[in-house]
Amino acid sequence: MIEYDRQLEGKVRRFLLQRQRPDYVEESLARRRGDCCRCGVCCRLFYPCPLIGDDNLCTGYEPGSPVGPCGCQYPIDERDIADVAAAGGHCSYWFVPSSTALGSLRSIGGRRWVWIGDSILEGATPSIHRAYLASHPRDGVAIFAMSGWSTRRWQREGDIGAKVREYRPDVVVACLGTNDEGEERNRTEYERVIDRFKADASQTGARVLWVTSFSGPGSAERYAIVRGLLGDRDTISGLALMSGVAMSGEIHPTIAGYGTLTEHLLRVVWGRVVESKGGSVLVPLAVGAILTGAALWAAKEWG
Ligand code: SF4
Ligand code: SF4
Repeated sequence: MIEYDRQLEGKVRRFLLQRQRPDYVEESLARRRGDCCRCGVCCRLFYPCPLIGDDNLCTGYEPGSPVGPCGCQYPIDERDIADVAAAGGHCSYWFVPSSTALGSLRSIGGRRWVWIGDSILEGATPSIHRAYLASHPRDGVAIFAMSGWSTRRWQREGDIGAKVREYRPDVVVACLGTNDEGEERNRTEYERVIDRFKADASQTGARVLWVTSFSGPGSAERYAIVRGLLGDRDTISGLALMSGVAMSGEIHPTIAGYGTLTEHLLRVVWGRVVESKGGSVLVPLAVGAILTGAALWAAKEWG
C-alpha cells in the first residue's frame, strides 16, 4: 500500500525544515555520506515531479548546483531515507548518527550499536546502514571505520573508551585483524592488545563481539591466540563469512560482494545478540513443564 500521508508529511517537513531550520539542515547534511545512485524515487514521492526524465535525471538541474530546481537537498536526514524505503526504494545515501539521535532512538526501544573496523568495514558501511533501516529501524548505529588500522592502532589511537562513553552502546562489534600482520611475533603482547581493546570497549557494560579478519595476507585467524578465541561465544570467524563474496582483489570485495558480506555478517551478529536472550526462553519453558507435570499429577491423584 502506498503511504501517501507519509509522503505528503515528508514533503511538508522538508519544505519547513529548509525555510525554518537551516541550522538543523546544515548540521544534518554534515552527517550525510554516500552519493546519489539516481534511482529517482525521491522525485516521485507523493506525485511524480514533472521535471523528472525517463532516465531518472532531473531535466531542470543546473550543473554545479547543490540542489535541484525544487530546492530540496534530498535526503535531509534519516527520515527521508526511511520514506524512500517505505516507497520500496533504496536511497544510496546514509547518515553518521549523532549521539543525540542515538539517544532518541534508544528511547523508542532500539539497541545502540557501535561498529569499529578498517577499510573492509568502511566498504560495507552503506549496506550495513541500509540493512539496519530495513530490519532494525529503531536501532541506533554508529560506524567508525579507519582504512589500514590494526587492532593495536585502534586500541592506542582510536580512543575506543571515549567513543563508548559518548555513545553508551549496548553492543560493540569490532571487525579487526586484517591489518594485524606481524603481531604473532610477540604472542603475549598481541594477547594483551586484544584484551585491552575488549576491556576499553566494554567499560560501560557493552557486549563486545569480535569479528576476526575477513581476508588478506594479514588474516588474524592464522595466529594461535585468535584461533584459541574462536571457541568464545563473542568471537566470530570473519573468514567463515566470506563464502560466495565476490572479491575485487586479495583483500577487498566488489560492491556486490560487500552486499553479500553484510548479509552474512549481520545474520551472525544479530543471531548472537538475540541468542543471548536464550536463557529467558528456557525459564518459561521450564515453568510450563513443571506446571504441566503438577496438573497431570493432580489429575491422577484426585481423578
Ligand atoms: S525538480 Fe528535479 S530534483 Fe527536484 S523533484 Fe523534480 S526532478 Fe527531482
Ligand atoms: S532516493 Fe536517494 S539515491 Fe535515489 S535519487 Fe533520491 S537522493 Fe538519489
